[in-house]
Amino acid sequence: MTIKNKLRIGISFLFLLAIICCGLSIYYVNRLSGDEKNILKDNYLSVQFTKNICVAIDSSQGPLDSAQTSTIEKNICGEEHDITEPGESEMAALLRLKFEALKKIRIPSSEADQLHFDIRKVSYGIMQLNMSAIERKNAAAKATASEATEILSFVATFLFLVAFTFVINFPGYIANPIKTLTESIKEVSNRNYEKQLDFKSNDEFGELALAFNIMTVKLNEYENSNLASILFEKKRIETIINSMHDAIVGLDERSVIIFANEVACTLIGLPEKELTGKYAPDVALVNDLMRSLLVNDQQKMKIYADSRESYYTKDVLAVTSKDKVIGKVIILKNITEFQQLNDAKTNFIATISHELKTPISSIKMSLKLLEDDRIGDVNPEQRQLLENIDADAKRLLQITGELLDMAQVETGKLQLNFGSTHPGNIVGYAVKALKTTAEQKQVTIKVECDANLPDVQADLDKTTWVLINLLSNAIKYSHERSTVDLVVKIYKADEIEFSVRDHGRGIDQKYLSRIFDRYFKVPGATTEQTGTGLGLAIAKDFIEAQAGKIGVESEIGEGSRFFFTLKRIGHSAENVTAEAESAS
Ligand code: ADP
Repeated sequence: MTIKNKLRIGISFLFLLAIICCGLSIYYVNRLSGDEKNILKDNYLSVQFTKNICVAIDSSQGPLDSAQTSTIEKNICGEEHDITEPGESEMAALLRLKFEALKKIRIPSSEADQLHFDIRKVSYGIMQLNMSAIERKNAAAKATASEATEILSFVATFLFLVAFTFVINFPGYIANPIKTLTESIKEVSNRNYEKQLDFKSNDEFGELALAFNIMTVKLNEYENSNLASILFEKKRIETIINSMHDAIVGLDERSVIIFANEVACTLIGLPEKELTGKYAPDVALVNDLMRSLLVNDQQKMKIYADSRESYYTKDVLAVTSKDKVIGKVIILKNITEFQQLNDAKTNFIATISHELKTPISSIKMSLKLLEDDRIGDVNPEQRQLLENIDADAKRLLQITGELLDMAQVETGKLQLNFGSTHPGNIVGYAVKALKTTAEQKQVTIKVECDANLPDVQADLDKTTWVLINLLSNAIKYSHERSTVDLVVKIYKADEIEFSVRDHGRGIDQKYLSRIFDRYFKVPGATTEQTGTGLGLAIAKDFIEAQAGKIGVESEIGEGSRFFFTLKRIGHSAENVTAEAESAS
């Protein structure tokens, strides 16, 4: 049965009980009022009539006067029409008989007195009869009232119990299934698709439970098929990650290790089950490599694992979802092969450069001899050719020198001779070395280097080499008859900054980040201007090896400013000024 019909029946039943209760009440009230009416109508009037007769008969002795006669006549007539009790009609007839006899007596006599007495006696008799009837009927009315009270109390109690049961049970009847349904929906939202509802009724709740159970079964099926495909994909990704030659470690947002592939486990030296699920900083406490992975910014790493030394580069990728970082993946790329090739290349370059130096120097020596008049005269064309050969030999010597320096840096064989020196010394050597070059191009080098500047901690040769390189570039890329500013000043509290500013064509912003890369040359320069593209890369290595920084600012059409810093020493040196000007 549907809930709607159940509700209808329940409420109708309550209505029925209320109607029965009302009907019974009306019935008993009617019964009680009927009893009372009967008492009034049947007996009370008879009592009144007989009382009036008695009063009239008692007003005088002897024969009746006309007023008495009329009163008694009227009341006897009334009594005769109000016969209700058994024996009352005989008594009324006797009363009439006595009255008629009394009416005929005209003079006072003992007979008249006797009749007076009889009439009074019969009247009392009738009164007595009716009084008894009133008492009896009153008792009957009382019995009806108590019966009504009992039945109505019983019906009211029954009605109350039914209504009470209804009030107690009905809300639960509606609310309990809804509560169960709400709890089940919450379970489903927590992915518990095993949940089933068990409503046995055939009403709407039964239908609802059936629909809900079908829904959870479908969701369960969907979840299982989804889960299976997710597990399959997971397996596939795990296989791919494990078959990679790079080490991969995945961390969640709380730095708990989610996965580590076989290579990563071998390098770290711990089995997978001792890594996954562990808090990475905890592992880092007992494992050097994990510590390096988490803490070090260094990109290239040399790792000894599996009885051999290998080179790796570290890449840290942030895993984001909806702009929120939910973890990171650390990848160690095996670059041992490239490193070995690079080492071979560097060794090759070092050997070749070194081997080339001797024949080039001997060419230069031979040129010097050829230029000497004592060897013999050379005509102007031959002299021009000799000058060209000399310029090329110079260039070759510079290139081999730079290549050797670079090889030194790359193989880690860079030797630094640190010492305390005043910046003015470095500036002085550099400016002197480029005096002729600047004069040839009519470029003025303006030097600003306070003699009170403190000394720097530097390798004099290497730093001078760097400054010469920057100045040489500045002259190279300056317009003729322009100025190059060389400024040395205190930078921050503990550093000295050397800066070389030219007013040449400048460098496009897009090349600035690559300008210190090996072999990089800004496109568009003339063959006279460009060299190996190694000068700035070596300069960077030399400065960084001395714990300094090197940088560039440039704007197309405005010129460039190259600068580097060195650590200062806490006292100032003697005044050393270096100023060289080469004017047109
Ligand atoms: P190179 O030996 O080719 O000069 P460098 O490493 O010294 O190599 O310089 C790299 C490149 O940077 C140069 O090829 C040149 O294009 C650019 N460059 C260096 N200095 C300047 C400068 N002052 N003005 C414009 N371009 C410059």
